[in-house]
Amino acid sequence: MLKIDPELLNNASLSPHRRALEQGYRWLRFDDELEQQFRAFYLQGHVARVRLVTYMCIVLFLLFVILDLATLPAYVSARTVSIRLALIIPSLIVVLLASYRAVWRAHLGTAVFAAALVIGLSTVAVIGSALAVGYQIPYEGILLVALFVYLIAGLTWRRALLVNVVTLCAFVIMEFWLQTDPRARLYQIVFMCAANGVGAYGAYFLEHSIRTTFLVNTLLHELAALDGLTGLSNRRTLNIHLERIWRQALRDRQAVAIAMIDIDYFKRYNDRYGHAPGDAALKAVADVIAAQARRPLDLTARYGGEEFAVVWYDPVPGELRAMGEALAAAVAALRIAHLDSELGSLSVSVGVTIGLPCAGDNAAALLRAADQALYQAKRQGRNRVVVSEPVPALV
Ligand code: GH3
Ligand code: MG
Ligand code: MG
Repeated sequence: MLKIDPELLNNASLSPHRRALEQGYRWLRFDDELEQQFRAFYLQGHVARVRLVTYMCIVLFLLFVILDLATLPAYVSARTVSIRLALIIPSLIVVLLASYRAVWRAHLGTAVFAAALVIGLSTVAVIGSALAVGYQIPYEGILLVALFVYLIAGLTWRRALLVNVVTLCAFVIMEFWLQTDPRARLYQIVFMCAANGVGAYGAYFLEHSIRTTFLVNTLLHELAALDGLTGLSNRRTLNIHLERIWRQALRDRQAVAIAMIDIDYFKRYNDRYGHAPGDAALKAVADVIAAQARRPLDLTARYGGEEFAVVWYDPVPGELRAMGEALAAAVAALRIAHLDSELGSLSVSVGVTIGLPCAGDNAAALLRAADQALYQAKRQGRNRVVVSEPVPALV
């Protein structure tokens, strides 16, 4: 099994992805919601490959048809060719359609599962139909089908195992029913079981590694997006988010507001209480700030040092001051002692601004305006909220 760097896990938040990595997934299954996410990731990564493999299969089975017609007596090939053309090729065409049509793509896994079952059972039927008329055709094709289903078809391990167990059972029943040579029967069954063992073992480790890649991918993404100390979004995520909602606000003709929040006299706090309590205070302030923006397009971020930013999408312009005051009041309510501030406890200064995006401008100007409002709050004596003049169109 792949080993994950423990540092990566320690630094990640307590997300379901981290929990899954810690608990393990020996049975190749996550909790329900995570399992859905994994299936979507798995499907997305396999669509192009499944499509290519399906084309290859169609060509291969058409070649088998030609081979049957060229080498088998007509009374045998009539049976084998009709099974290949009437069952196998149509099931592959269904897979192709599902891979191309966006509305059907969610069912691609089911289509591949059904096609694999049809191909497995049809191959048993091809061998059986020849045996029934006393003709031995090479049975190695069915070994290929087993390995193909496990390793190349893009099925999850459980589904590949199910397909192969059903096919193996059908094969064993067919051999006992129609195979008259007991030695050949024994060899063929033993080889089929061995192919299943090798395929199931390989497919298990393949899927286990894909699951690990899925989880690590998400963890790395999360670590790159969040601030390590506070768990809020970092500045990079803030910039990306702002640009995105700015474009959306332009389309929807909605406003975007930003609050910049800076802890007052925080250098003195560190100097008096030490860096570790300083970190704890930052974390506590970040937690209450996070609670102030809960709608899907809102965001709270650590802008840097002891400075934070809150982005509100489509706020009510007349409520901006109250929203800023709520932020400051929530920090004050923490009652973190700060004896080197006139107040005696930790406070913040807040600068709030709002903008209605116009074509051609960008979100950076809004950030600058919020920063200027914060600067004014500092100059006016700290522990206060300054709301910069709203854009006239909003009043
Ligand atoms: P003002 O009221 O004008 O904002 O004064 P201030 O002291 O808060 O501002 P200044 O910019 O002078 O100092 C910010 C301090 O924040 C300096 C630094 O020690 C502290 N700081 C920045 N990041 C961290 C951090 O991650 N942990 C801790 N403990 N302190 C930090
Ligand atoms: Mg400060
Ligand atoms: Mg500062």
